[in-house]
Amino acid sequence: MPGQAPTAGEAIIDREGLQALLDALSARGFSVIGPRVRDEAIVYEAVREVADLPEGWTDRQDGGHYRLERRKDRALFGYAVGPHSWKRFLFPPQQRLWRAQRTGAGFAILEEAPPLDRWAFLGVRACELRALAIQDRVFLGGSHPDRSYAERRRGLFIVALQCGEPSGTCFCVSMEAGPKAASGFDLALTELLSPGSHRFLVEVGSPAGEEILGAIPHRPAGAADRREADALLASTASRMGRSLDTRGIRELLQDHPEHPRWQEVAARCLACANCTMVCPTCFCSTVEDHTTLTGEGAERTRLWDSCFTLDFSYLHGGSVRKEIRSRYRQWMTHKLSTWFDQFGSSGCVGCGRCITWCPVGIDLTEEARAIRASLPEPTHA
Ligand code: SF4
Ligand code: SF4
Repeated sequence: MPGQAPTAGEAIIDREGLQALLDALSARGFSVIGPRVRDEAIVYEAVREVADLPEGWTDRQDGGHYRLERRKDRALFGYAVGPHSWKRFLFPPQQRLWRAQRTGAGFAILEEAPPLDRWAFLGVRACELRALAIQDRVFLGGSHPDRSYAERRRGLFIVALQCGEPSGTCFCVSMEAGPKAASGFDLALTELLSPGSHRFLVEVGSPAGEEILGAIPHRPAGAADRREADALLASTASRMGRSLDTRGIRELLQDHPEHPRWQEVAARCLACANCTMVCPTCFCSTVEDHTTLTGEGAERTRLWDSCFTLDFSYLHGGSVRKEIRSRYRQWMTHKLSTWFDQFGSSGCVGCGRCITWCPVGIDLTEEARAIRASLPEPTHA
């Protein structure tokens, strides 16, 4: 809230302090993953120096549109989110699960070794923290936790970023998933840029974060720093590119499986699955088995899959969801409606990636709005 005093433990670091943070994480054995410019997009890759970060870049996003542009300042985190999400590290797009080796009359199963890397994620937005929490629920909740995900998640250090730059497709405010990161991080940075000053307000979220902050040069934050950070967050919240009316959305979608809008969107949808690949919460996968030509070995690989492919719903005798209409309906209804029944929350955090990276610019906020607008109020108000 504007005018609020800094919380005890809030500190200020400058650009050199940010490099010291990277060095301190590295010295503790973390591989730091953060934003970098590659192939004309901001992606998540290994980061060793502040110079690796996308200094002075921003992204312009809209339905089916993503372009990097130069900023007028030297912001290091002055963009929204790109095509990558953090799920690619915790739930890799392609991952060998096990190998089998023939041994005389039988065979031995060779378990995959857990990854050696301990990761520190740098620049995690509030919506992405919410997505991590959703994937935690999917992979770690219930009676059969995913061992690989658990091993990768364990020991993760998270440096969140309080969001100062929403994109044209963001709607985290509607999903109550941002722009402020309130928990789920070890440290949280707010990038504060003003003439002659480039600094970061640091919030501590865990004992591990406190230990790291203690190891790098910093100074206490003042009330003016906190005011500036609050103003930045308020500005971000007011500049969302999209919005979604979530009132009664669970029933709105579940109650209208035959709405003509599903056919209208199917006429535009290419069933390319881009939306599910970029989504930070989508978790569907398939497995492939391969054997060597000699028959001495075999292995099983897990790959990301999508409810948009015909094969995904293949049961004996054929696919359940033959039409694109039913595949789009399945995806959007799961995200915004039946996810509540399954996991107790929405499956969407409002990051906007599925809108930006859809080659034909299909926008789930627009689809939900169209269905709602066609129905008499107050059925789903
Ligand atoms: S459904 Fe779209 S906006 Fe929602 S979390 Fe997934 S990619 Fe982001
Ligand atoms: S909604 Fe867009 S991104 Fe998703 S499958 Fe259809 S065409 Fe591809």
